[in-house]
Order: sequence, then structure tokens, then C-alpha cells
Amino acid sequence: MHGPPVRAVRARTYVVPTTYDGDPMPESDGTARWDSTGVLVVEVEAGGCTGLGYAYTSPAALGVVRDVLAGVLLDDEDAGGVFATQRHFWSMARAVRNMGWRGIAASAVSALDVALHDAKARLLGVSLLELLGASADRVMAYGSGGFTTYTDTQLRQQFAGWAERGLRAVKMKVGTDSAADPSRVRAARDAIGADIDLFVDANGAYDRKQALEFAERFFADAQVSWFEEPVSSDDTDGLRLLRDRAPAGMRIAAGEYGYVPTDFRLLLEAGAVDVLQADATRCGGVTGFRNAAEQCIARGLPLSAHTAPALHATLAASVEPAVNVEYFHDHALIESLLFDGVPELIDGCLVPDTSRPGHGLVTSGRGEDYLTSEWES
Ligand SMILES: [Mg+2]
Repeated sequence: MHGPPVRAVRARTYVVPTTYDGDPMPESDGTARWDSTGVLVVEVEAGGCTGLGYAYTSPAALGVVRDVLAGVLLDDEDAGGVFATQRHFWSMARAVRNMGWRGIAASAVSALDVALHDAKARLLGVSLLELLGASADRVMAYGSGGFTTYTDTQLRQQFAGWAERGLRAVKMKVGTDSAADPSRVRAARDAIGADIDLFVDANGAYDRKQALEFAERFFADAQVSWFEEPVSSDDTDGLRLLRDRAPAGMRIAAGEYGYVPTDFRLLLEAGAVDVLQADATRCGGVTGFRNAAEQCIARGLPLSAHTAPALHATLAASVEPAVNVEYFHDHALIESLLFDGVPELIDGCLVPDTSRPGHGLVTSGRGEDYLTSEWES
């Protein structure tokens, strides 16, 4: 079946300050500090429908859309139109080969791949979840924030608030000040009580010996059940060491820097993770996320969606191995600002609204104060 060709491509970038309780506040994890979040939002026009995609990335990604990728989609008249999502994905991947597929280019490809799938679902008059084939009608969400810039009081308030909203797991950052980490982790456990899962993310800040020590300590002191990037994701042997030696009740997670299918294969072949993470706004949109899911199926491992909850609600519900979606503090705020149709949180789960066409998101027009650049073909 041929779809209509892509007739126009639009791209906008936003830079949104990080906030706590509505006030600007810088954020940090074990290896980075930031005070804003960059977002690329793209639209493709085909057959009178608009498909929407987005990615959390540098505003520099707009240049990749404008100079390279828009032309790939617009010039592809005989390629099966907007329905030929696989063909478009691989054409875009080839087009960024010499600049480097990983990184900013991969995020630009990801946003456009999501927009193409959204347009296809809208043209067919179905939700994206129906187009992909649902595995579930909802997916568990976990609250994610607990930045190391927070005071213990702010950390407790954020986690207690998520618990009150029904989330059954929360994740905090560790690794900025290893001397303070044990007491911060205990404060988090105190805030959520015994029945909510507590996850920690070191963003690769610890060395192997520190990570082994903290795995034991966080589990014994606060029943931490998920240790994300205890060591750098580049140290796949170190991740494997942690996976083999951490307490049995603690899962090792990594994968957020997977940009291309091979990145996931290398983590999985190394036996580096108990749970693979994938971020559709980096790893190739719908196409890349589903490839990561297939690699998990082949190895019998679960998949977790990294950030971008409004998009991942649909994508995670469409693949069997997905166990949860990261309800990331900044992204939940940004998605509610930039888009209408954000999925609801119900009983700790994100529930895609399949009565809406596509992934259900449309631009709200509310983010204009944070617009930094725009372009259209
Ligand atoms: Mg992480």
C-alpha cells in the first residue's frame, strides 16, 4: 500500500529552564549539571495530515533536519510515501553516516521517525498503539528526579508527592557527593515508606569498587532494587561485574546512550544489564525502540523506556518486554507545556488514549516563550 508523499517538513527548537515547584532551579546527577532542557519538535505533512515527533536534544539538531534529513524525505517520491517508514528510517541513517549517526543526528532521525509513524496512523484513522499492535493498554510509570541539587526536604517532598499520585516506584540521582549518598538514599526511603520501589541512578559516577560497596549498602539500608549506570556504560565489563555481584534483589540497568541497534547488541552480548533501557528520542524513534525490544525478546530480558513519558506510553505498550516508563520530572512538565493530549497517570500507570489518532499528541502553542529557532521547507 502506498501512502501519500511527504510534502513539507517543519522543525522548531525550545530551551526550557529546569524548575522545582515552579521556580527555576539547576539540576545535577553524578556526572553532569544543567539548568535547561533542549527539545526538537518536528512535523511532517502528507496527504493533508500532520505527523508530530520530538526529541530531547541540542537545538543544533534543527540543522541536521534542515540541511540533511528533510531533503531525504521530500525527495523520496517513489518510495511508498509516508507509509514506508522502514525505508525512510534507513535512508535517513545512511544520510547521516559521514557526520556520525550517533548523538545529535540520531535524535533528529528519531523525531522524524516518530512524526512519520504518527502521520501514517492519522492517515489510516487509528491510534499509533493500534497501528503498532498493542501488547498492553497501559504501562507502569516510575517517578524520576531526586537530583543531587535538591535538599533532603525537596527530595522527600518530590517523592512523597509521587507516592500520593499513585506511582509505585521512584528514582533518584546519586554519585555527585559519595559521602552524602547513603543518608540521601535513606531519606528517600523514609519519604516513600516500605511499599514503593526505590531506584538509584549514578550516571556512571562510581568506579567499580565504589559501586560494589554502594550496591551492598543501598540494598541493606534502603532496599534499593534498581541500580542504573553504577559505572560508566562504556565499561561493559564493569556493568557485568556489578550484575554478577550485586544483591539478588537489585537489578542493574543501562542503555540510555544507545543510539543505533549495535549499541544495544554490545550491552546485551556483554551480559551487562538485567534491564535494558532505550530512549526512542535517541535510538531511532518508533523503529529504533522496537528494534531494541526485539533484541530484548531474543535474550529474554526486560526493557525500560528512558524519559519522554508521553511518547513512551504508547511505544512501551506496543512491545511485550517493556516493564516500565520513566516519568521524568522535567519531561513531564515540558510535554504538558508543549503538547495537548498527554497520556493520563492512572493507578501508577500511563494510559495511552486510543480514541485519539496517532500518538495523541498535538502542539499546544503554549511553549512560545521558550522557542529558540524554527524552520520549514
Ligand atoms: Mg539514567
